[in-house]
Amino acid sequence: MGQTVGTTQQSAALTDDDLDTLWRPLTQHALRKRPLTIVEGHRCTVVDSDGKEYFDGIAGLWCVNVGYGQERLVEAAAAQMSRLPFTPLSRPAPVSIELARKLREILPGDLNHILFVNTGSEANEAALKIARQYARQKHAGQNRSKIIARYRGYHGWTFGANSATGQAGRKVAFEPLVPGFVHVRPPDLFRLLEGLSPSQAARELARELDQVIEFEGPESVAAFIGEPIIGGGGVLVPPDEYWPLIREVCDKHGVLLIHDEIITGFGRTGAMFCSEHWGATPDIICMAKGISSGYVPLAAVGVTDEVFGGFLGDPADRVHFTQISTYGGHPVACAVALENIALIEELGLVANAAEMGARLLDGARELQRRHPVVGDVRGKGLLCGLELVEPGTKEPLAAPTVDGLVQEAQARGLLVGRNSGTVPRLESLLMLAPPLVVEADEVDHVLGIVDDVLATASA
Ligand code: PMP
Repeated sequence: MGQTVGTTQQSAALTDDDLDTLWRPLTQHALRKRPLTIVEGHRCTVVDSDGKEYFDGIAGLWCVNVGYGQERLVEAAAAQMSRLPFTPLSRPAPVSIELARKLREILPGDLNHILFVNTGSEANEAALKIARQYARQKHAGQNRSKIIARYRGYHGWTFGANSATGQAGRKVAFEPLVPGFVHVRPPDLFRLLEGLSPSQAARELARELDQVIEFEGPESVAAFIGEPIIGGGGVLVPPDEYWPLIREVCDKHGVLLIHDEIITGFGRTGAMFCSEHWGATPDIICMAKGISSGYVPLAAVGVTDEVFGGFLGDPADRVHFTQISTYGGHPVACAVALENIALIEELGLVANAAEMGARLLDGARELQRRHPVVGDVRGKGLLCGLELVEPGTKEPLAAPTVDGLVQEAQARGLLVGRNSGTVPRLESLLMLAPPLVVEADEVDHVLGIVDDVLATASA
C-alpha cells in the first residue's frame, strides 16, 4: 500500500472548526460528530486519516467493484485527459462510441442503444423521460404518463427518481414530488408476504401489478420501474418467478419495464447484469456505480431496438430525444469505464462474485443459526443483508442498538452498510457488498468480525 498520505488531507481531517464547512449527507451536524475521513485505499481496504485500516464491506457505496488502487484505470484517465479532456456527447469522442459498443455487447437481449449521463439518479431520470416520450409517441391519443414503482425501492435523489423511490425517509421532506407515480408492494417475503411460498408470493405480486394497472387505466401507464434486487431498501431478493411474471403483465398492458441495475450491474450479483438470472430482459436498463467502479462519475441508459425506434422520424416532427447533459459521456469517464469493464472480464470478477457470494451467504446463514438477533439473511452474489430483530420476535432491532453494532464493527476494522433513513421502523439491516476482487480468506475474516459483533448484541 502507498505510504504517502498528504499532510493537507491529514490536517483537513483533524480540523474541528471545519466540521460544519463540509455539509455531509445523512448527517445531523448538531451532534458535532467527527466523520471517518478516508485518505487512501488498496483492493478491499481503506485507510483513515489516523492510519487505521478497514475492510470495506460495502465497496464505498456499493460501487468499487474492481477494488481500490487499480493503476490501469488511473492510466486510462490520464491518457484520455491529455488527448482530449472534453467534448459533448453530441460531438462524441471515439472512446464514448467504443464504450457504447462494449455495453451493447455485454447487455442482455437487444438493449443496443446507449445514452450516457453522470449519476444513477440521472440515469433513472432519463429512463423516466424516455418512457414518457416513447409512450406518447407510440400510443397517440392515449395519455400514458404514469410510472408504477415499488415501496422500499430506491431510485435516486433528483425529483423524478425521488418520486419513483418508495422510502418515506428519503422523500417526505421534499414533497410534493412529481405527479403520476404509483407504488405497489415489494417482494418482501420476510414481512409483507409472510407465510406464502416464493411461488405464491410471486403470483400475488404479479396479480397486484395487473390489478393496479387495470384500476389506473392501462392507457395512462407508461412504465414499471424496479431494482432487480432492492438494495438500500433492504436487500429484497425476489422469488425466481417474480420478474418473468412481471414482464408478462407489462407486455399484456403495453407498459415498458425499466430495470434499475445501478447497484446490481457489472457483476455484483454473480451475473454481469442481474436481469440475466431470470431471463426477463427489460425495455430500458439503468447503469451507474460499477460501470466505472466509482473511480469517476458515469451512468448510462440502455434501450431496446423497439424503444429506440420510437424516436426515429422526420426532424420536423421532433420525435427525437431532446435532452442534453454537459458531462454525460465525458470522454475521461468513458475511458475509465472501458478499462474497468476489461478488468472485470480479465479478472473473472463475475464468476468470483458468484463463488465468494455463495460463501458469504452460507456463512451469514450459519451466523443466523447461532445468533437469535439475526431474523433473516438474504442475498445473491456479493450483495447480502442480515435483518436484525429482537430475539425470538420479528420486531426490528432498536435503531440505537443497530447503530451500536455498526460502530462496533467499525472499531474492529470493518465498514458495513445499514439501511437507516429509508423506511420508518424497517431500518435494522446490516448490508455487505464488498469489492468483487474479494478472496475466500477475506470473506471469512468479514464473517468472523460480524460474528464477534453479533455476540456483543446477544451478550
Ligand atoms: N438507484 C439505485 C438502486 C441506487 O442504489 C442508487 C444510489 N445508491 C441510485 C439509483 C442513485 O444513484 P446516484 O447516487 O449515483 O445518483
